[in-house]
Amino acid sequence: MLKLPVYLDNHATTPVDPRVMEVMLPYFTETFGNAASRSHSFGWAAEEAVEFARENIALTIGAETKEIIFTSGATESNNLALQGVAEAYAYKGKHIITAATEHPSVFDTCKALERKGWSVTYLPANAEGLIDTQQLMNAMTEYTVLVSIMHANNEIGTIQQIGEIGEICRERGVLFHTDATQSLGKIYFNVESQNVDLASFNAHKIYGPKGIGALYVRRRAPHARLTEQIHGGGHERGLRSGTLNVPAIVGFGKAVQIALESMIDEARNTQRLRDMLWNGLASMTDVLVNGPDPVMHAGQRLPGNLNVSFIGVNADALMMDVKDVAVSAGSACASAQAEPSHVLMALHIGEQRTRSAIRFGLGRFTTEEEIDYTIDRYAAAVKRLRTVSPAAVV
Ligand SMILES: *Cc1c(COP(=O)(O)O)cnc(C)c1O
Repeated sequence: MLKLPVYLDNHATTPVDPRVMEVMLPYFTETFGNAASRSHSFGWAAEEAVEFARENIALTIGAETKEIIFTSGATESNNLALQGVAEAYAYKGKHIITAATEHPSVFDTCKALERKGWSVTYLPANAEGLIDTQQLMNAMTEYTVLVSIMHANNEIGTIQQIGEIGEICRERGVLFHTDATQSLGKIYFNVESQNVDLASFNAHKIYGPKGIGALYVRRRAPHARLTEQIHGGGHERGLRSGTLNVPAIVGFGKAVQIALESMIDEARNTQRLRDMLWNGLASMTDVLVNGPDPVMHAGQRLPGNLNVSFIGVNADALMMDVKDVAVSAGSACASAQAEPSHVLMALHIGEQRTRSAIRFGLGRFTTEEEIDYTIDRYAAAVKRLRTVSPAAVV
């Protein structure tokens, strides 16, 4: 039986997996200690749980345990990575390279750094959202201290060639940060083989709780140094003070473990459903996919992502018409500002097509019935809005 509403906004957040919830529960009540309390068993038990999660996360991405710093989420991780590196290496140079399609937590941090005297190069993206590594090399100067390019894009699902980017950076002695929030546990990601020096991610995009994230900071050579942004008791090797959220960290560890174990099957399944959805929607006229072609270039796109423009129909009007399917127009953050998505604008597909774009985010719990339902509802709504409602037309 189909349960409504249908949730197809898994790039915005995901439900907590019941297996994750279960391991978290005792850490609210019984094992409630402060992981920084060194003088009693309550503290030791909490610390042990935190270190177990840290090990799990480190193992998953090819890092060492000490290279994982817990934060409140990927937004904070991105802020810490960019501002922390910028400040620590300001004596060497004040140039940063990033991409035009980054998440606002990277993009706006770069804007803030520009206001404080740093210079930032925003690499353009091609029509599929990929940056050009030749342009990256050309942009590098003797003052470049950091390159920040996301692994997988949260709007159009584009997977950047981070291994190649990492190699370019390593050869030139420039630190490489990647926002891996959308890729962790969904596609192959390994900081060692892909030459990543800093990486951000969180729990709530991989069926863990909200409000917990991590930053991987390389300690092995080449060692990445950071200036802390939150001062206090010196938690997390002094890089991020504040009492650790033990239940959330325990859940994060479990979420990562499950994601890793089920990654291949899950990717296959979400991609199959995504292809079903695309097949269904593409049978309508004037429906264009944004980002890598899901058929021809499937390997360059997150398996659960589909971003589609219904030409001639306003995305907000369409979402209001299909209220029982939860999706988003552009990114959730950008749509709150009623401005066209900067990611889609960077693809140079025009404002009209940008304003008619809907992002579908499929996930672990998406079913075939839900996809069939979504196709039917969208087909009917697009047809209706194109004929009867001039107000809904872009
Ligand atoms: C969701 C997301 C973030 C922000 O993560 P929070 O933990 O919600 O702060 C950053 N980057 C990308 C790519 C995301 O998808």
